[in-house]
Amino acid sequence: ANKKYDYLIVGAGLFGSVFAHEMTKRNKKCLVIDKRNHLGGNVYCEEQEGINVHKYGAHIFHTNDKRIWDYVNQFAEFNNYINSPLSLSKGKLYNLPFNMNTFYQLWGTKTPEEARDIINKQIAKYGTKSPKNLEEQALSLAGKDIYETFIKEYTEKQWGKKAKELPAFIIKRLPVRFTFNNNYFNDKYQGIPIGGYNVIINGLLKGIDTKTNIDFFEDREQLELLADTVVYTGKMDEFFDYKYGQLEYRSLRFENELLGIDNFQGNAVVNYNDASYDFTRIIEHKHFEFGTQDKTIITREYPEAWDRSKEAYYPINNDENQKLFKKYKAESQTLKNVILGGRLAEYRYYDMHQIIASSLAKVEEISSNSNE
Ligand code: UDP
Repeated sequence: ANKKYDYLIVGAGLFGSVFAHEMTKRNKKCLVIDKRNHLGGNVYCEEQEGINVHKYGAHIFHTNDKRIWDYVNQFAEFNNYINSPLSLSKGKLYNLPFNMNTFYQLWGTKTPEEARDIINKQIAKYGTKSPKNLEEQALSLAGKDIYETFIKEYTEKQWGKKAKELPAFIIKRLPVRFTFNNNYFNDKYQGIPIGGYNVIINGLLKGIDTKTNIDFFEDREQLELLADTVVYTGKMDEFFDYKYGQLEYRSLRFENELLGIDNFQGNAVVNYNDASYDFTRIIEHKHFEFGTQDKTIITREYPEAWDRSKEAYYPINNDENQKLFKKYKAESQTLKNVILGGRLAEYRYYDMHQIIASSLAKVEEISSNSNE
């Protein structure tokens, strides 16, 4: 074909940026567009008072996959930040994830045996063999005290639904541990890129044509003429103009505050469990990078209902939405010269390392097909 570009990449987040980078390395010509006034999608950071503010929610990089770790380390050096959030519940602070420190704070237990004994008794009393919803899952994994102190109210705020009406898989992210170890993630590699995530995005997109403030849907036909193939990373249902119906998401509202003190909470992340707070957590951004600025910036994170005017942060992966998604997905696979990928187009609760892996896999799939 004699179009100007091989790929028009719609959305300059991690999926699109990795895709553009890899295809450019393979001598393909890429144009990356984004409707926002900046590149980077939700990993974008905005510098304020010398502090990198995670504008679309806190992002902590972690992976067990050495290939993905080496991949991101090409573009930035990572600091040794380890995520160790706290949870405030009924006026007391506890360590997360659920570990020996948490159990000591909850019950005064000093040994794994003592803690296990309490948890096992509660699981025996309140748990079930095959949990059918989030509440049953949590009670079966961790018992009643942990569920009521850390999970129930937080989760109901986060999702705007009763724990009994939520799918069990959401809670599988939360491990229970019998060591004094406050590292939230089990992964081998973890950290924050020094200089913020923009360093990685700029590295990925270096030398590649990019345009911000371009809404694909406002000028779709003209834009599609620019390239042989469109790589679309936005919402799957929006791509099809919602013709089978709308997928559901959960949105978030971030309230940032600049404070004239150097340290507000002594930790990057404090979760607020209780229903009496409308927000789920407070992020103090400087602590992601061990900042020593005189001031500090904090963000309160309020979950909210999603509508088309809001950012879609979390997919709501219940059966109904999965069914609808599959319908769109099947149709997308009949289209030639269109690739859909990333958190929104795949309707997945993805972490950053998973998005990178998904993008690399897509590039490899295309490259091996074209070599046949
Ligand atoms: N969660 C909870 N209490 C907490 C933190 C998390 O019950 O203090 C639950 C909640 O249901 C949430 C899920 O665990 O939706 C995943 O939370 P995490 O913070 O790991 O994910 P993120 O929202 O950062 O993607």
